[in-house]
Amino acid sequence: MPLSQADAHLDHLSSCSPCYQDFLRLQADYRRRRARMIFAVAASVLIVAGITTWVAIQHHSGLQVARSAIVDLRDRSTPRGTQTPPDESPVEIGSKVSRLEIYLPIGTSDGAYEFRVTTQNGDVLVSGTGIAKIEPGTTLLEVDASLSSVTPGLYVLQLRKVGSEWSSYALRIR
Ligand SMILES: [Zn+2]
Repeated sequence: MPLSQADAHLDHLSSCSPCYQDFLRLQADYRRRRARMIFAVAASVLIVAGITTWVAIQHHSGLQVARSAIVDLRDRSTPRGTQTPPDESPVEIGSKVSRLEIYLPIGTSDGAYEFRVTTQNGDVLVSGTGIAKIEPGTTLLEVDASLSSVTPGLYVLQLRKVGSEWSSYALRIR
C-alpha cells in the first residue's frame, strides 16, 4: 500500500495495540519472505555461474587436448621432392586433430604455403594452405586440417612454399 493511502490508518495504528501487533507481525512476515527471495536469487546466480564456469573449462581443455597438434621440423633438413628420405623417423600426429602448428626447418622463409597428406603411393588425402610467419628462432606455419577421416598408419606429409618444390616427411597418424 502506498504511503498516501496508509495515511488514513496511521492514526488508528498508533493508538490501538492489537492492530499495531498485527502490523508488526505482517511486517516481520514480509521481511522474512523478502530475505528468502533474495537468498533464492543469489543461490540461482551462483549455480548458473558455477555451471557456466564448468562448461567453459571443459570446452577449453577439450580444445587444447584434442584439436591442435605441434609438428616440429626445426631439427630436420628440407628434403626436396615427393619421396621421403629413407632413414628419417616419422612425424607423429593424432587423428583427432583439426589444426596443425608446424615449426618449419630452421632458415625456412615465410609466406604462403601449401600442405597435404598423401598415402605412400602419392594419393592426396588432405590438403590445405596457410601463411608461415617468422617467429623468434623459428618459422611457424599454422594450417586448419582435419585428419579424422584418415585411418591410423604411415603417410607422407608434404609442404611447399607456393610456386616452389614439395618437401616430404614421413608421417605416422595415430
Ligand atoms: Zn484497532
